[in-house]
Amino acid sequence: MYCIAIDDGHGMETAGKRTPTFPDGSVMRENEYNVAVAQFLEEMLRRCGFRVLMVAPEKEDTSLSIRVKRANDAKADAYVSIHANAAGNGWNQANGIESWVYSKSDAKGKAFAGAVHRALVAAIGRKDRGVKESDMLYVLKQTNMPAVLVEGGFMTNLEEANLLRNTKYRKLCAEGICKGICAFFDVKYIPESEEEEEQVKRYQKIEDLPYGKDVIQKLVEEGVLSGDKSGNLNLSEDMLRVFVILARKAVI
Ligand SMILES: [Zn+2]
Repeated sequence: MYCIAIDDGHGMETAGKRTPTFPDGSVMRENEYNVAVAQFLEEMLRRCGFRVLMVAPEKEDTSLSIRVKRANDAKADAYVSIHANAAGNGWNQANGIESWVYSKSDAKGKAFAGAVHRALVAAIGRKDRGVKESDMLYVLKQTNMPAVLVEGGFMTNLEEANLLRNTKYRKLCAEGICKGICAFFDVKYIPESEEEEEQVKRYQKIEDLPYGKDVIQKLVEEGVLSGDKSGNLNLSEDMLRVFVILARKAVI
């Protein structure tokens, strides 16, 4: 069983690693994105049959040397460091996805970085800035296994910063990285089952329903369905189907 080391980049309080102030007055710290993607990735990799080593599970900042030592000691098969990019301090136009690999890495290491980068870009559809080489980045230089550092968008670009704080985007980033790791190790990527996704799908308004609007409208008018205080129906796919079938059979 392959073991993947996941590195969430920085500590929550690492100086400077944050977005400029959003128009709504809020700020996102880089680690909020990194941790969220790391956690999604952990869950996805386990589902695909990998062992996962979180190299910095602590709340406080974990030094880079400890992160790397943990991966090397565990003899992890690959190392993924998750980051968000920045250009300068204020909002600007720099955007897109870039990944980093150690310049003196062997062919296997470069192939790993390429596989993860390509799958990440394919999953999220942002501008591809390519895989860049560095002989400076500690976690790439000091790890004994194929290692990649991914930058999932620019915190200093308003559009990408809004994506970076979006849960769906974070999940999509993790999915891309996971697919790249699966491709590299020739392991089948196992998606979340459609059944699970269907269970969380709930319709709130009559106009959102894929079918059966007239049936539900009638039940609301009759007071059979009232929804919550805001008029949200919170109707699952299964319940909708049952109501429509009963209506068809003229039971209700
Ligand atoms: Zn970073």
